[in-house]
Amino acid sequence: MRRTLPQVLALPGRQFDACGTVAETLARLAEQNYELILLDYRLPDGTGLVVLDWLSRHRREEAVIMISGEDAIDAAIGALRGGADDFVRKPYHVAQIQRAVHSVLHRTALERANRAMSQRLRASERLHRYLVESSPDLIFTLDAEGRFSYLNPRADELLGLSRSQLLKRPFMLLVMPEDQDRMQGLLQACRDGQSSGFNVELRLRRNRHGLADDEHAFVTVALNGVPMTNAEQDGNSGIGLYGVARDISERKRAEEIITFQAYHDQLTRLPNRVLFRDRLELAVAQAQRRAGTLAVMFIDVDRFKRINDTYGHAVGDALLRNLAERLGKTLRRGDTLARLGGDEFTVLLPDIGCAEDAQTIARKIVDALSAPFMLSAGPIRASVSIGIALYPRDGRSAEDLTRHADVAMYKVKRSGKNGFRFFDTELDSHHRQRVSLENDLHGAIERAELALYFQPQVSLAQRRVVGMEALLRWNHPLHGQIGPATFVPVAEEAGMIGALSRWVLHQACRQLALWRQAGHLDLRLSLNLSPHDFGQPEMVEDILSIVEQHRIPPNRLELEITESMMMQDACAATTKVRTLREAGFGVAIDDFGTGYSSLSYLQQFPVSCLKIDRSFVRELHGPTINPIISAITGIARGFGLQLIAEGVEQAEQAQMLRALGCDIMQGYHFAPPAATAEAERWLRHPPKGVMP
Ligand code: C2E
Ligand code: CA
Ligand code: CA
Repeated sequence: MRRTLPQVLALPGRQFDACGTVAETLARLAEQNYELILLDYRLPDGTGLVVLDWLSRHRREEAVIMISGEDAIDAAIGALRGGADDFVRKPYHVAQIQRAVHSVLHRTALERANRAMSQRLRASERLHRYLVESSPDLIFTLDAEGRFSYLNPRADELLGLSRSQLLKRPFMLLVMPEDQDRMQGLLQACRDGQSSGFNVELRLRRNRHGLADDEHAFVTVALNGVPMTNAEQDGNSGIGLYGVARDISERKRAEEIITFQAYHDQLTRLPNRVLFRDRLELAVAQAQRRAGTLAVMFIDVDRFKRINDTYGHAVGDALLRNLAERLGKTLRRGDTLARLGGDEFTVLLPDIGCAEDAQTIARKIVDALSAPFMLSAGPIRASVSIGIALYPRDGRSAEDLTRHADVAMYKVKRSGKNGFRFFDTELDSHHRQRVSLENDLHGAIERAELALYFQPQVSLAQRRVVGMEALLRWNHPLHGQIGPATFVPVAEEAGMIGALSRWVLHQACRQLALWRQAGHLDLRLSLNLSPHDFGQPEMVEDILSIVEQHRIPPNRLELEITESMMMQDACAATTKVRTLREAGFGVAIDDFGTGYSSLSYLQQFPVSCLKIDRSFVRELHGPTINPIISAITGIARGFGLQLIAEGVEQAEQAQMLRALGCDIMQGYHFAPPAATAEAERWLRHPPKGVMP
């Protein structure tokens, strides 16, 4: 049998070794491995079971076919139990043993392949498990009901919950309320097979336990979800989901900081212009919907530039910061305080019952600023001017409301600052007019739109014109002639008054020079100075040089100033008046009696003339003696000053003024201001009122 078997089983590449005893077999096996052993049950020095036993003890992989003459079934069972792969009984047919060998070899080959395969699988699984479990992302699977069926360990750290707490719990429990609808929709689409996955940003709840107070109770993640296909699902009840969630809170916070900076003022950390506008637009839309009222305040710090110039920018900045803080405290939650830039703030009161509510808050703001700010430079006081516009009364758009609040603020500034005021439509048209006038005024001199008018000053005693007041007119191409009361303040504000005054001075001197050439050598010309001119340090030299250019003796000019000009900086004003007087000019106080205390400064200012304001002249009617005019004439006499009465409209007034000792007069009763040609006629033929 030992000799025949290699022949009947021969195949190309197959090799055979034959052994006659158990001992020989074991010796061979110790030397090398085989694929298959055909093992006789009975051998000269023992049974085949000894070999089987040896193989199993040495964990050998050789397949074994036991060949035996034993009839007993338990011999076969013993052999198979001992590890044999098949059992062939003697005597056997050649085909039988060939079949057995073939099938055992086939089976062991399969087994080996399987083992290799599962080894590879195990390695691959280990790799994937490692990758999943050590991933910095949260990786999970959901079952068909949307409950966690797997989570990687990242869950603990990211969500503050252990995996066992989360398993079998619905994913939606973690989603923040504001994101729930959206998430529900995405999951449903996956379940319905309408989606092949999604990529969303959403917020997941974090377990507050073990979080520091300033940490967020949620974490923002970018979640990538992919539905599982049916084949991957254990049961086939619907479809689950793979999910990978990456923590993007850090990035979000960085984005928030950038956004914050885009919408806030660096210095005060208040909302800036952009954000204010945004909130205002929103509030207007809401107020419109519920037919409510809202208020916009425009707040400007009074004389901030001076504080900045005096104490430096660091103190200016500190003041703005402190101011912002104090302003903020006067407001309620829901109100917006913003800094537009510089010393300008705005307030949005999105929900007020009536105008009085806004007024209450404005008053609170003004009060809150009554105490000084304790800054490094010492205690500094700051007041503000507040303009208020109401929706819908004063405007229906964010832009109109802000602009109108600004217009109202501007009005507060002009009337003494430190206070508040509501917008009214009259203000607006006024304001618009100003703005357009200001634009038109640029270039008015070059376009020769300005003209000087003259009004005669007559002496009743001498029955002739002794002087002229030069009065400025603007022939506006559209609006016709405009008086100085309208455009001089505009020019002052726009910084154009200097040029205007110079033009007037030249023009007046040129005219006077012509009249002097015509023989009117004792004619005197009165000119109005604006407070701005009077404030200029080089004013006196300027006037002197112009007068010299036109060869006018200074004593033929009278410069009219107002009481308020002298009060502004009394010391500097005294010097100027004195210099002008010493140079020979006349200096008159215009609108005398309407300003401040009159007597004390008359001693101080060496003026030469008082012009009685027309409001006193107007009251001159009937036989009663007017006490104010008596007083003024008394003062003039006492101080040796000339007197001119203005605004004389009736013969009766002229009479009474004369009786009171005022001889020189000016007014419609004699002549209104008129252009040069007319003025020239008065020089030759005095206006009719001059004759009694
Ligand atoms: P003012 O100096 O008090 O000038 C007198 C104003 O009274 C003039 O108004 C004149 O037309 C007006 N007036 C004259 N007689 C009568 C009268 O009988 N009844 C009434 N009701 N009014 C009379 P005007 O020309 O409109 O000038 C207004 C103001 O503008 C002037 O007041 C003066 O303060 C200022 N002003 C005029 N010209 C100039 C100028 O060249 N430069 C500057 N800075 N201010 C000027
Ligand atoms: Ca005047
Ligand atoms: Ca006057």
